[in-house]
Amino acid sequence: MLNEDGTRMDGRRPDELRKIEIEAGVVPVADGSARVQWGTNLAIAAVYGPMEAHPRKISRQDRCVLDVRYNMAPFSVTDRIRPGFNRRSREIGKVTANALESVVQLELYPRSKIRVEIEIMCAEAGTRCVGLTAASVALADAGIPMTDMVVSVASGRVNGVVVLDLNKEEDNYGDADLPMGILPNSGELVFLQMDGDLSPEDFQEAWDYNMGAAKEIHEIMVAALAARYGGDA
Ligand code: UDP
Repeated sequence: MLNEDGTRMDGRRPDELRKIEIEAGVVPVADGSARVQWGTNLAIAAVYGPMEAHPRKISRQDRCVLDVRYNMAPFSVTDRIRPGFNRRSREIGKVTANALESVVQLELYPRSKIRVEIEIMCAEAGTRCVGLTAASVALADAGIPMTDMVVSVASGRVNGVVVLDLNKEEDNYGDADLPMGILPNSGELVFLQMDGDLSPEDFQEAWDYNMGAAKEIHEIMVAALAARYGGDA
């Protein structure tokens, strides 16, 4: 999985991200939207609302609720995915909602909901991070007040070496994966999952890679909003 000179199969250094491109406002009928091309991953996020919370049972007297759906398109991977939600997509929708609830100023919209739809069009590892990042830009594009944007990125370990932003092969055959959701301005953590085992030292290294990368990704997110709205967004 690693070349003799320490580079990875795709030529990246251990601390190098895949190429990331972000565009805001790609779904004209939505209140806010974003496209994130991250390596060969492609995600579109669309935001609708705030609107009255339906069904009534999800409504909260004192705040807004986030209704987040994550879905992988049937054609997003080579083995066709059965359309519709499954356990994995429901779990990812839930952890994404929890992360976003940490930043959206929900108390401004009592008895309301904001719908966040994340569609993965092409999937090559790290799609929960790509989707959460896309949703953050889409919420900002919709003008929803937030204390910060959530930036999400994963690091992991491959052949005993900690690497940033695993690709598909590294994700499949690596030893561990640590996706995180980070608030770039404060360094706070709003989402963390771990697949596999990492020693305390490797965990720290993966953590540091994610924290460093979050700043880099945040700049691309802000630039996407600035390109749409002008100024420094
Ligand atoms: N994947 C797949 N079919 C599935 C789920 C996942 O082919 O039903 C692939 C897809 O490329 C995904 C990768 O496996 O990006 C890793 O999936 P994981 O559950 O680790 O989530 P992710 O890394 O995408 O957040």
